Amino acid sequence: MLRLIVIALVLLAVTWALRNRRRRRRATRDARRFERLASLQSLRLWARLPDELRDTLVARVEDFIERVPFTGAGGLTVDDSMRVRIAAQCCLVTLGHEGWPFAALHGITLHPDEFVVRQEIEDEDTGVVTEGYEALSGQAIESDRIVLSWRDVLEGDAHDDGYNVVIHEVTHFLEHANPGGDQAARAALEAAREELGRALDRGETPLIDPYGAEDTAEFLAVAAETFFERPRELRARHPTLYVLLRESFRLDPAEWPNPTQ
Ligand SMILES: [Zn+2]
Repeated sequence: MLRLIVIALVLLAVTWALRNRRRRRRATRDARRFERLASLQSLRLWARLPDELRDTLVARVEDFIERVPFTGAGGLTVDDSMRVRIAAQCCLVTLGHEGWPFAALHGITLHPDEFVVRQEIEDEDTGVVTEGYEALSGQAIESDRIVLSWRDVLEGDAHDDGYNVVIHEVTHFLEHANPGGDQAARAALEAAREELGRALDRGETPLIDPYGAEDTAEFLAVAAETFFERPRELRARHPTLYVLLRESFRLDPAEWPNPTQ
């Protein structure tokens, strides 16, 4: 009899301990989610989003942080608020589409500042290719990894000036990982890039970063930065390009509640 009572007491103690551990785990997870939500709500992009997109963004950012590993380089320690800031901007670009577009993304590497990479550099006049080093603020390595400078991430998120390294690199990534767009869309994009080149030749100050004149991939990436950061200006000055990007991203940021520019 005594043995049965002892066994029952031990079982009760074990059940109680297990239940407590589960409760503690759940409390930790809830606390982490709450902190992530607070970090997300403190971002500038949050204020611009319509309610229905906010709900989607919260879920996607949670998923992104759980599924995509972040690595600090150059002595940088990556904390959760840094992950939220980057994940939010990556996911912003994809909010118009269903599904999980980051399956091929194996990780994000974060440097404290610009980082130096070995590059093949082609002389525009002679066409001669030489090996050299270049300092970058961001890089999408095919559809495998995105490398970012944290200082530039902060700058990109601080102003709606059409400069946003995360939007730029995630657009490159998405283009690599999920190439899309029909021929007509590609031709329209190319025409817009040529128009940028002509505006630069005329000595005008374009709305879109002149770097976009380099090639179609760079044009799409800088146009995406303008689309998300200065949507109303882009719609007013380049309506055809705006519609093209609106169809491609399936988002209409010029119509969001608080577009800044
Ligand atoms: Zn680029």
